[in-house]
Amino acid sequence: MVRLCRVDQAIDQEELIQDLIYFNPFLNWSKGDLKFAFWRNGHGKRYRDAILNVTPRIYGILMQQKKLQLCMQTTRITSFSRFIQCGKCLKFGHTLKNCLDPDGPFCGWCAGDHLTADCEKLGSSRCHNCEVLNKNLKYSSRYRTDHDATTQDCPVLKRALKAIERSTLRDPEKS
Ligand SMILES: [Zn+2]
Ligand SMILES: [Zn+2]
Ligand SMILES: [Zn+2]
Repeated sequence: MVRLCRVDQAIDQEELIQDLIYFNPFLNWSKGDLKFAFWRNGHGKRYRDAILNVTPRIYGILMQQKKLQLCMQTTRITSFSRFIQCGKCLKFGHTLKNCLDPDGPFCGWCAGDHLTADCEKLGSSRCHNCEVLNKNLKYSSRYRTDHDATTQDCPVLKRALKAIERSTLRDPEKS
């Protein structure tokens, strides 16, 4: 995730994504490279920050580049780390390097006992986080598990993201 700083309030999220792709052709965008996550206030009434989901390739370039062109304006880009998903246990709030969870690794794609990067399984995905959640739920209220654990469609991930948005609204300057 990256944070695009000081975006004019007048720009909505679809416009923002379109403009970023249009004004920054050097990134050779492919489908799914850039997705809007949420807004974060903190620059008075005129500006807000946009939190964006990018693929690892784009993230790597942006962390060197540190800026993006948005219309006539150059906007600063920084990494945004309040939303971290562990690459080993697939939980939120810490990285693989700092993982103290005794469980895992679990695969973010197939829920198998290997790192996502080592996954050789093709075809349909399975969500480890939702499978864990379902263990404590009645059959009728269980979540679907036919998705990968890092997709925005995952209810567990959605919930984690919402919690961050809520804390963001309460405390706009803290990061
Ligand atoms: Zn972990
Ligand atoms: Zn796998
Ligand atoms: Zn899930």
